[in-house]
Amino acid sequence: MNRIGREFSVLNVKELSYHSIINAIRENHVQFTAEFNPAEGRYFLTGHRADRKGHQTTIVYSKNIPENLCCPQCGKKMNLGVQQRCLNLQDKNIRPIKRDFIHLIPLTEVLAYSYDIKNPNAKKVKTVFGELMRYFPSEIAFWQTENLREKIDTLLPEKVVQEIIAVQQGKFQFDPPGYDGIYGKLKIGS
Ligand SMILES: [Zn+2]
Repeated sequence: MNRIGREFSVLNVKELSYHSIINAIRENHVQFTAEFNPAEGRYFLTGHRADRKGHQTTIVYSKNIPENLCCPQCGKKMNLGVQQRCLNLQDKNIRPIKRDFIHLIPLTEVLAYSYDIKNPNAKKVKTVFGELMRYFPSEIAFWQTENLREKIDTLLPEKVVQEIIAVQQGKFQFDPPGYDGIYGKLKIGS
């Protein structure tokens, strides 16, 4: 439930009609897209978890990946990460279309982080999320609100407000990024 509508495109249309929408798609009138942050994905980097058989430590590569993908610790083959696969597919002769985009994190994940709760589906998180959504038509509208601080200031503890605003301003990262089936670890702040 907390992952519905994570990726979408905002189109410039003259009116809300079939023809207007289909024309906007055909003529590429995309204002911006919203994307899942690839570094949060479970196979962003190439590597092996520390709890694998024959492992004492974590092995993660962001560059200089062994060509045969052989893990130096357990000798088994590693899955090539999404980042490296993209780099391999990159055609230097093709100029990609430049388009505005935003990265979204599910609000429940931000709340779980702020309240120091492991599970974004925990009851406390769901309750706070439900309370907040009484004041906004949707979570997307929530993130798109200008002066968001003013609107949520009295609804949440200051630390939570600060971290939500930081996410809205793009001040977050996934450190370490996802690898070998583990999601990237969210860190909010510069
Ligand atoms: Zn290994």
